[in-house]
Amino acid sequence: MVQKSETIWFDGKQVPWDEANVHVLTHTLHYGAGVFEGIRAYECADGSSEVFRLEEHMVRLINSAKILGITVPYTAEELTEAAVETLKLNKLAGAYIRPLVFIGDGAMGVHPGDNPIRTIIATWPWGAYLGEEALEKGIAVKCSTFNRHHVNVMMTKSKACGNYVNSVLAKTEAVADGYHEAILLDTTGHVSEGSGENIFMVQDDVIYTPHADGVLGGLTRNSIITLANDLGYEVREEPLTRDMLYVADEVFFTGTAAELTPISSIDRRQIGSGIAGPVAKLLQTEYFKIVKGENSDYEHWLHRYSI
Ligand code: PMP
Repeated sequence: MVQKSETIWFDGKQVPWDEANVHVLTHTLHYGAGVFEGIRAYECADGSSEVFRLEEHMVRLINSAKILGITVPYTAEELTEAAVETLKLNKLAGAYIRPLVFIGDGAMGVHPGDNPIRTIIATWPWGAYLGEEALEKGIAVKCSTFNRHHVNVMMTKSKACGNYVNSVLAKTEAVADGYHEAILLDTTGHVSEGSGENIFMVQDDVIYTPHADGVLGGLTRNSIITLANDLGYEVREEPLTRDMLYVADEVFFTGTAAELTPISSIDRRQIGSGIAGPVAKLLQTEYFKIVKGENSDYEHWLHRYSI
C-alpha cells in the first residue's frame, strides 16, 4: 500500500491526495499512451535532503513524451521546482517521486485529438523496492518467458506507461514462480533488462552491461558506469547472453527504485558465491554515499533541499 502524503501536484496546483482523481474515460487509462518517471529523494547525513539527478529525470520525462508525440505543457525547470515544492509541502526528507504525463478525457478513438495533456507529481515514502534484505543478500531471479520489446514495436527509450504491460507480465510470472524479479531477453535472445531495472555482470573484474539501444537509458545505469570508471574498472557495453550470466562472477540490477541490488541466483543457478559479490558491494556502498551527500565529487548530481 502506498503511504499517503498530504498533496499531489496536479496541472500546476497542489491538490489534496484523495482529490487527485480523473475521469474513467481518461485516454491514457484505455490506450497506455502516457509517460512517467521514478525519482528518489534521500535524507543526507548532514540533515539536509537531496533529489538524485532530478533535472535529468525531468528531461527524460519530456523526451519520453516527445517520442510519443506528446508535448508536456511544462519545462524541465518548472517540473523540477514543482517536485521540490511537493516534497517540502509533504514534509518528506526522503521519498519516491512519481511524475506522470497523460492524455485526459475527451475523444475516445485511438487518435487523442485535442484531449488535454495532464501532469501530476506524487511523492510518498518508499523504502527498498526489492526489500532491505535484497540489497544485502541479493535476490533470486528468472529469465522470463516474455521477451522485452522489439525497438520498433514499442519505443524502448520512452518510459511509456504502455511499455510496462510487458514488465507487469514478466514480474507477476516471476513472483508467481517463487522468484523476486525477472530478467527479460530481447527478441534476438540477448539479455536486455529487468522489469524495472538495468542489468550488469562482472567477469574477471571487468564489468559488462548490454548496449543501451534496446533498453531504457537508466540514470542509475549511467551513474554506476561513471562511478565504476572513476574507481578504475573497465565497463564494456556488449551483447550478453543468458548463459554468460549463469557463469558470471557477479550479476546485479540497477534502478532508481531497486538502487543496486545484487542477484544471487538466476533460474536456480547460484551466481558466484551466491551472496553479494565484492564489486557489487563496493559499487553499492559508494552509490549510497553519493546519494546521501557524502561524496562531494558527485555533488552536481544532487538537487539539495530542506524541509
Ligand atoms: N529499465 C526499466 C524498464 C525501468 O523501468 C527502469 C526504472 N526507471 C530502469 C531500467 C532503470 O532506470 P533508472 O535507473 O533511470 O531508474
